[in-house]
Amino acid sequence: MHFCDHNATAPLRPESREAVLTALAIGGNPASVHAAGQAARAIVEEARDVVARFVNAKPDDVIFTSGATESNSLALAGAVEGAAITGEKPERITRLFVSAIEHSSVLKTAWHLAERAPGLRIDLIPVTADGVVDTEALRVMLREGKGRTLIAVMAANNETGVIQPVAEISRLAREAGSLLLLDAVTAAGKMDLDFSLCDYMTLSAHKLGGPQGSGALILRDGAPFAPQILGGGQQKGLRAGTENLSGIAGFGAAAKAATNDGEERARITKIRDDFEKSVKTAIPGTVVFGERALRLSNTSNIAIPGLSGENIVIALDLDGVLVSSGSSCSSGKIAPSHVLSAMGVDENLSGASLRVSFGWNSTREDAEAVVAALLRLNSRVKIRSSKSEEAA
Ligand code: PMP
Repeated sequence: MHFCDHNATAPLRPESREAVLTALAIGGNPASVHAAGQAARAIVEEARDVVARFVNAKPDDVIFTSGATESNSLALAGAVEGAAITGEKPERITRLFVSAIEHSSVLKTAWHLAERAPGLRIDLIPVTADGVVDTEALRVMLREGKGRTLIAVMAANNETGVIQPVAEISRLAREAGSLLLLDAVTAAGKMDLDFSLCDYMTLSAHKLGGPQGSGALILRDGAPFAPQILGGGQQKGLRAGTENLSGIAGFGAAAKAATNDGEERARITKIRDDFEKSVKTAIPGTVVFGERALRLSNTSNIAIPGLSGENIVIALDLDGVLVSSGSSCSSGKIAPSHVLSAMGVDENLSGASLRVSFGWNSTREDAEAVVAALLRLNSRVKIRSSKSEEAA
């Protein structure tokens, strides 16, 4: 089997698996004062240090969560609710500027908040045809924004791998006195991250080779935040609930393994670049989305005109090759990807999109298997369509 869907979930790294099992064997509650509690607490604090270092933050900034969906939701709801009462500049947030290519956990939470908070307006920041947040458009939008604003962007997009101009967006946010939420889920481990550029950052362990159901919100000291999950006062009362000890241990181990691994990134870049070269040579007409932009080294989002993305995923699966389609299927209807739509890709082409994403355990053979399976499928489809033309 060739697993080439790391942006959906990276397979569990051996270091992470080991850490999960060790933590499960301890079984203490990190809040307990006895020896088992202390051993559990030590695991949590060690992981907190690693995760903080991973993104250039302080351990105190790290709040462990159940994953990035929760982290994004906590950041947005916590900022909107907290802005009027907490933080260094209490003032209500009146506008959210959300990039059009954000993950649904950001987009849906933003719409949900706007429906409930009177006077809160949302504007989508457009992207260029290459999938890069249009900073010129954002600059103009920020000029019009009255009252306190919050910008939500990704460090890199999960569907295309396109890296966003975070430093420039951070500069614009600072100039406008706007808060900045950075969804660093896909970028983490594939490029260096700097928390000092933003106020809120979100991470997910399973995209790094850690376990699912574990993540973090990194919260700048002094940034507005009203806790959304109340209870036993864990994590300084910012996110109550007994910590997911094994999930946190596995997250820490995965972050450690993924830190500053330049050699590994170069190896994956070569696999991805060779994959794109081969597929374009083998199947002329193949489109690579975001090709002219800076992209993460592991992601390739392609379309082979005439093949539908969903069908390719199923056909490749039968051939032992696991990838994703860019479109999503909800209520039995294939919906075009909102990311590709925001880039102005027409529905036919975006319906053919296929995301191939590599990672820590990917090999050249995996990439070659995807190309070979695509070639077999393409020739079967061609034969079938020429037969149906003959029959017509
Ligand atoms: N943000 C991005 C960019 C993602 O790709 C995902 C997961 N698909 C999430 C947030 C949500 O993360 P989780 O699966 O940990 O809830």
